[in-house]
Amino acid sequence: LSTRLTETLAKLRTKGKLSASDVDGTVREIRRALLDADVALDVVKSFTAAVRERALGAEVSEALNPAQQVVKIVNDELVGILGGESRQLQLAKQPPTVIMLAGLQGAGKTTLAGKLAKHLRGQGHTPLLVASDLQRPNAVTQLQVVGGQAGVPVFAPEPGNGVGDPVRVAREGVAEATRKQHDIVIVDTAGRLGVDADMMRQAADIRKAVQPDEVLFVIDAMIGQDAVATAKAFQEGVDFTGVVLTKLDGDARGGAALSIRGVTGKPIMYASTGETLDDFEPFHPDRMASRILDLGDILTLIEQAQKAFDEEEAHRLAESIATDGFTLEDFLKQMQQLRKAGNFKQMLGMLPGAKGMREAIDSFDERELVRTEAIIQSMTPQERKQSRILNGSRRLRIARGAGVTVTEVNQLMARFEQAAKMMKTVAKGGVPQMPGMGPM
Ligand code: GDP
Ligand code: MG
Repeated sequence: LSTRLTETLAKLRTKGKLSASDVDGTVREIRRALLDADVALDVVKSFTAAVRERALGAEVSEALNPAQQVVKIVNDELVGILGGESRQLQLAKQPPTVIMLAGLQGAGKTTLAGKLAKHLRGQGHTPLLVASDLQRPNAVTQLQVVGGQAGVPVFAPEPGNGVGDPVRVAREGVAEATRKQHDIVIVDTAGRLGVDADMMRQAADIRKAVQPDEVLFVIDAMIGQDAVATAKAFQEGVDFTGVVLTKLDGDARGGAALSIRGVTGKPIMYASTGETLDDFEPFHPDRMASRILDLGDILTLIEQAQKAFDEEEAHRLAESIATDGFTLEDFLKQMQQLRKAGNFKQMLGMLPGAKGMREAIDSFDERELVRTEAIIQSMTPQERKQSRILNGSRRLRIARGAGVTVTEVNQLMARFEQAAKMMKTVAKGGVPQMPGMGPM
């Protein structure tokens, strides 16, 4: 009978559409992953709502279980959003192409100027770097160093001219490029630690003066939840045509990418991944999607949870308890199943409703599981089926066979009794609980 039930359930699952219960649990996990990755709450909300809509009513796949299927939809959607309208640099019909960099101080603009210059030079372009950051004393020198490394000339104001005018430098830089037939000009600008009106006005003035073909907003991926406010401020203050994410070599999960995309709609064009000029690449939406979702983790966790808490298994167990009672053999099987499921604590942690079990989880020792296995395996088949025959001398024999103390055998038996009681509740239709989860 139990195999027939299993088959029926299996059939039910491979037909029809994904149900709300299939979708919601997974969407909840996804929401948490996005928030962990520092995606802005509003963006998370609208994104998960869209995903839920798409997932509900999707045909159930034969190849994936519902949770995996939802994750796949999420991933596809995310790649779509991150990569939608992804494009190459827009080159001017009439050279030089003017690229202006904007962003907060320390975002990585000057470093990026060098990276971009080297990259473009490698493609056969003849870029000129223009030092329009006159705010920081070392900014011009820094650009000159970076230009030297990239093998690209730098246009800078004459030294000793007092405080220069960044707008004028930008304008003269572009004129110089035209004169010397550079086909691309990259204008480095000043930033502040926070968004401020002066800086924004200066950037907007430079923009007006040189009419760039591209304005790249450079932002540190580690900025986290501030990404939205910063991106909005630059969009309103300067307006930009594309985004560059920097410091992706750090451990930021990259939620900023999704936030910025969600809020500004502007394409992310490049990724900066280190301090040297070669740590630079075109933006890859698929890689960013996996990074944001930490897809590997989510998929395994979902699989683990499903393996261990398989509905069919619960039904099967309920039936077998109803007819034979819960035996030490069932107990062992459950233990082994849980062990197979991988990182036990982590799995428990992600289960809805597991919060109340936090203490038990924290005190749970996986070695305990190994010991339990050893003890039960030292029993005869008859002892496993009829635990009440386990008298003192049998327990002593088992303890020796398993290399544990009699006390430990007794403790296991106490836990088993407890689990058996829990299993009776399951059989009566209660919520499945994990055996062996008593205080240890
Ligand atoms: P700017 O103020 O926007 O011009 O920023 P800088 O280009 O001067 O960069 C600020 C700091 O961040 C420097 O120490 C850079 O070496 C470092 N930096 C820039 N981009 C990256 C990156 O992608 N990864 C890492 N790890 N550091 C970076
Ligand atoms: Mg700089």
